Amino acid sequence: MKLYNTLTKQIETFIPQNENEVTMYTCGPTVYYYAHIGNLRTYISEDILEKGLNYLGYKVKRCMNITDVGHLAGDSDTGEDKMMTTAKKEKKSVLEIAKHYTNAFLEDMEKLNIRKPQIISKATDNIDMYIKMITKLLEDGYAYKSGGNIYFDTTKTPNYYQLSGRNYEDLMLAVRSDVDVDTNKKNPFDFGLWFTNSKFNDQELKWDSPFGIGYPGWHIECSAIAISNLGENLDIHCGGIDNIFPHHTNEIAQSESYLGHKWCNYWVHMEFLNDKSGKMSKSKGDSKDLRSLIEKGYNPIVYRYFCLQSHYRKTLTFSTEGLDIATKSYNKLINKIKNIKNNPEGDLDQKIIEKHQNNFKKAFENDINTSLMITSLYDVIKEDTNNNTKLYLIKDFDQVLSLNLLKDDEISQELKKYIEEKINERNIAKQNKDYAKADQIRDELLKQNIIIKDTREGTTFEIQK
Ligand code: AMP
Ligand code: ZN
Repeated sequence: MKLYNTLTKQIETFIPQNENEVTMYTCGPTVYYYAHIGNLRTYISEDILEKGLNYLGYKVKRCMNITDVGHLAGDSDTGEDKMMTTAKKEKKSVLEIAKHYTNAFLEDMEKLNIRKPQIISKATDNIDMYIKMITKLLEDGYAYKSGGNIYFDTTKTPNYYQLSGRNYEDLMLAVRSDVDVDTNKKNPFDFGLWFTNSKFNDQELKWDSPFGIGYPGWHIECSAIAISNLGENLDIHCGGIDNIFPHHTNEIAQSESYLGHKWCNYWVHMEFLNDKSGKMSKSKGDSKDLRSLIEKGYNPIVYRYFCLQSHYRKTLTFSTEGLDIATKSYNKLINKIKNIKNNPEGDLDQKIIEKHQNNFKKAFENDINTSLMITSLYDVIKEDTNNNTKLYLIKDFDQVLSLNLLKDDEISQELKKYIEEKINERNIAKQNKDYAKADQIRDELLKQNIIIKDTREGTTFEIQK
């Protein structure tokens, strides 16, 4: 498996530390609003990475945080707390906001066939671990107290600039507009580990600690949640490219200072989804969420298909025209598969199966080349072989692609059973001359767009789309 590693800026062969189980940490959402479709692009790519590794035979232990405290408007500890801002606007408590948008996020994941990570941990549930880490960082001289807060001293780590690949001067230029100077800091890139005294609005959620009553900084959350759930040696850490600096840079600094050794081997970053006006962001207020697409009649799985057609390391520009094209192409694909499904025939051809599985694997192993993975699906459909062999491969690939390629059938199986039971009930009612009940059953089905017809051969049904 070849994977681009942001840490080394190279495509590398992926070698997990424990060949039986890959550990994978993915930064989760800050739950102050609905995830926008750009955030969801990142989660789709991470889902493909996890499922692709499963396809190669690895077990994956994946953990994701839910940020419900500590993430300020600017990633460099500046601005108001994102959760507080929404709570005030929506006149609710921070925890109510967190619950609402966490549930909405999990629903979005489900609609996009993104597997729920094995471990999901809320930032507010890990206070003890932050305190433990910060205490050690203070003891070992990596952190300092200033103005009532605890800061990490970035000059104490030798490789602070490795992940971003930029030096101090470059970064200073890049973040200049974001820097709202905090005079408590010794160096401009130092970051808050624990705040008891913020110049911004006071927090609703605070905890007692040896450093005073306060709340954690955003960066320490991910390090603590990752280390306590996945151990001291992490294989893969993912996130969107905006996380490279400062978030992941700071995660490395504090985790490695705390552990005293290298922490994570592979850093995988997903490029942005833009719209025509540029970067999509929740705070800009012009972002699209999945709900708005569904309201306009789009199938969420088509959005997944749209994302998979491009490589995760390339910027993808979103437009409704693009999504319309993806809808047409997806529907055509599903129709082709339906034709195959309607004519199941032939014995499985193991040679053909192996050939296509190898192509599919190779595409994934080539730094998660999802568009090539989709091409291998089309190659199966075009292949000169029997339909059972094709169906076998389509089902096999869909374990990773998760595009509901055969799902229609599964739904109709259940639905079919339900309708047949209803028809049977109606026939019994008719035999008993209970026409009122028979009509009631027919109307009930009609409400669900199921039309039943009495023919000489018996009762048939049709589902209106
Ligand atoms: P947030 O909820 O803002 O913490 O972001 C959640 C995840 O989405 C992070 O991994 C971000 O890096 C990622 N992300 C943010 N904006 C975009 C975007 N426009 N396109 C793709 N991923 C993004
Ligand atoms: Zn994170």
